[in-house]
Amino acid sequence: MSFIDLGLAPELLRALSDRGYDAPTPIQSRAIPAVLAGGDVLAGAQTGTGKTAAFVLPILQQLAAGAGRSPRALVLTPTRELAAQIADSARSYGKYLPLRTAVVFGGVSIKPQIGALRAGCDLLIATPGRLLDLAGQAVLDLRGITHFVLDEADRMLDMGFIHAIRCVLKLLPGKRQNLMFSATYSAPIRELASRFLRDPVHIDVAARNATAERIEQQVYRVPKEHKRQLLTHLIQAGSWAQVLVFTRTKHGANRLTQQLESHGIRAAAIHGNKSQGARERALTDFKARRITALVATEVAARGLDIKDLPHVVNYELPNVPEDYVHRIGRTARAGSAGRAISLVAPDEIPLLRDIEKLLARTLATAALPEYAAAGLPVARAVAA
Ligand code: AMP
Repeated sequence: MSFIDLGLAPELLRALSDRGYDAPTPIQSRAIPAVLAGGDVLAGAQTGTGKTAAFVLPILQQLAAGAGRSPRALVLTPTRELAAQIADSARSYGKYLPLRTAVVFGGVSIKPQIGALRAGCDLLIATPGRLLDLAGQAVLDLRGITHFVLDEADRMLDMGFIHAIRCVLKLLPGKRQNLMFSATYSAPIRELASRFLRDPVHIDVAARNATAERIEQQVYRVPKEHKRQLLTHLIQAGSWAQVLVFTRTKHGANRLTQQLESHGIRAAAIHGNKSQGARERALTDFKARRITALVATEVAARGLDIKDLPHVVNYELPNVPEDYVHRIGRTARAGSAGRAISLVAPDEIPLLRDIEKLLARTLATAALPEYAAAGLPVARAVAA
């Protein structure tokens, strides 16, 4: 299967070839023809499957057939980072088409966004709060929307956006194409889907809650107070070039970042209390490999598009087992292998059991490394 077989326009094929994409991913092979056919689509796919291109490409193609000043396609997505990444992808895929993409999200000045909307755009990527703000100020007319995408719908609900989604839906014209992407299908997700999708084509690329098979997953059982030393050791002894580390709290992310820095590991934290500028800088530095460890909270890391990420570490296990799947989805992305390591303290064993139940498999426990090498007291580094 090639992109040509999917019926994509030459301008899009050229942009894809510029990006070095040889063949569509499974979600792309199935979703692109379905979206081009014009009907509603409900797709089960998580980040890393190539789902962004699966909706952006066919939407750009449909937009290219018409024209207008106010946006004709709207993509609603939960986080600023994800919104910015989708916009980057749309601009890159659409670079040979005369289409304009605008992106609006909170946490930054609204003025340039108002300016961008006034200048006109074809495709609008937005987070819900800022979109409603702008719609309330009458700078945004959503009556011309013919294509609507709800991206990462499960995440949207987790983040409490259900009311905002309903408000947005009320602002859209009745006649439109709807696409909904979700990594999981909980009852509230199915309920939301039935509320606005009409006779959707169902596409599932991985079994529900399945973890990418290429990801090597390991657990280190380690007392809480030894996690920092273990992580430092793993990074340094393994000469890791890049690692994304998840902590449960913003404070924990800051503290761990400082501790890693004090051991000579270049690190930065990314979480909701950081300014948009600081978050973007941390992400840019990480992508450019100026820093080794990006320490993130769950929400901040959601949807980050970091290519070929070799290591993901759960410094603490998430409370919600599905979040484990989301987190480790940062590694082994389209085509590259990866490793996900979880540091599990004794009090986290019940969380580990829940994750293993969800995955329907037991995660391998790795032997603790030789602590003497890291200058740590061997006797205290007992396995839990
Ligand atoms: P996504 O799931 O949309 O976040 O995409 C995951 C990553 O895969 C992104 O870095 C994309 O640029 C990349 N990607 C998407 N489609 C393809 C493809 N057909 N071939 C290679 N890489 C791709």
